[in-house]
Amino acid sequence: MANIRLDTPEKSAKVLADLLATMEGRLEANPRGTCPVDTTLSLVKMCHAQSCGKCIPCRVGLGTVEDLLEKILDGDGTEQDLELLGRTAETIYLTADCAIGYGAGRMVLDSLEGFRQDYEEHVQHRTCLGRQDQPVPCRVACPAHVDIPGYISLIADGRYEDAVQLVRKDNPFPASCGFVCEHPCEANCRRNMVDDAINICGLKRFACENSGDIPAPERLPETGKRIAIVGGGPGGLTAAYYLQLMGHQVTIMERLDKLGGMLRYGIPAYRLPRKYLDEDINHILSTGVKTLFDVSVGKDFTLEDLRKKYDAVYLSFGAHTSKHLRIRGEETQGVIPAISMLRDVGYDNPPDFTGRTVVIVGGGNVAMDACRTSVRLGAKKVYIAYRRSRADMPALDEEIDGAIAEGCELLELCAPDHVVTGPDGTVKALALRRQIPGEISGGRPKPYDAPDGLFELPCDLIVSAIGQDIEWQRF
Ligand code: SF4
Ligand code: SF4
Repeated sequence: MANIRLDTPEKSAKVLADLLATMEGRLEANPRGTCPVDTTLSLVKMCHAQSCGKCIPCRVGLGTVEDLLEKILDGDGTEQDLELLGRTAETIYLTADCAIGYGAGRMVLDSLEGFRQDYEEHVQHRTCLGRQDQPVPCRVACPAHVDIPGYISLIADGRYEDAVQLVRKDNPFPASCGFVCEHPCEANCRRNMVDDAINICGLKRFACENSGDIPAPERLPETGKRIAIVGGGPGGLTAAYYLQLMGHQVTIMERLDKLGGMLRYGIPAYRLPRKYLDEDINHILSTGVKTLFDVSVGKDFTLEDLRKKYDAVYLSFGAHTSKHLRIRGEETQGVIPAISMLRDVGYDNPPDFTGRTVVIVGGGNVAMDACRTSVRLGAKKVYIAYRRSRADMPALDEEIDGAIAEGCELLELCAPDHVVTGPDGTVKALALRRQIPGEISGGRPKPYDAPDGLFELPCDLIVSAIGQDIEWQRF
């Protein structure tokens, strides 16, 4: 007679099944803004608990991954730990025998790629983006902490004016930011886990383009306080807007004859049409902000004069001085700072680059603005020389793509060495030295000189775009 066996679930198995069902619900409702490193650790632990232990990558490797994640979460992790985490996860992914192991390895790799910024925040600053006050991740990443979910909902309801007003509560430049903000919010959008980020920046631009004239909010009662703001760029104008709404009387002192600072004199009009910049500025001025043009500290008045005359003084004079290349021949005629070139264009006094070969030195957005502007100024050939590789360029990907699409040639891993001068004392070429990516430092490989890597790139103009400094000497 055959044995008959009835399997009845033991009590412990039943409890475990209930726990898993509860966990399943938790996973589905995983709140936005939770720390992705922490979430990854929980998932790895779950996989590790399910490991049958037959293959070493899963049994031992997942333990190592757990230890590394815990170290990072405790604030003791280093860049090397991040690298080791990636290598260990990859090994598990490639060598584990079943889906428990390789699935966990893949998940850690995806997490490292999708939440790189969160991992680096833990390693570099021992802080957790997910645990900061505002848990909506896109809003945390926005420097102005704009209420992004709020304005997106208003746009969805067709309430474009209200959406723009909501943005202005935290950022008085909605139209300008809709065009030129580097949108760190989008890199943090949780929708990246599904397919791609919500087009947060573009939606703001859409709302601005589709809303009419919006009156400024009502000011609080007059406080009788007078505030001087030195500098009419985005920083000064932002301070002026909110201080004026708080009931103070603000006066902006601007060195040039128009407001906008770097937005007007640093960003070319093809990227930020002046109509939208002027709209933002006019809205700010409509609160009653007073302006003085063509005046500067150290020439027309001293800081002490302002302190005596006003209840408070706010200095917001921007970073308008180009950093030096610090190479031989930098003073040669034909070596120009990107900032002054872009300023001339902003002044409607563009230089003529017709038929010239231009080398832009740098890899940031200013470098991209300079090279794309050079194309528009008639340059025959434009090179971008950058000492690291494209992946490490600080410029936005779309700006680099735009520059290349417009015919600029990117020379990666090439650092400027010296300027070659012709008999007439002008630029003849830029000597560049090929670089080799070295050790990781500050999240990027530190380049060093390749042996015998010196070569000359014939050119007529060299534009330095390696960063700006604050002009503090006058104070
Ligand atoms: S686009 Fe810029 S200003 Fe707008 S929400 Fe994103 S980070 Fe903030
Ligand atoms: S924009 Fe992205 S991160 Fe922000 S609330 Fe929407 S889905 Fe979440």
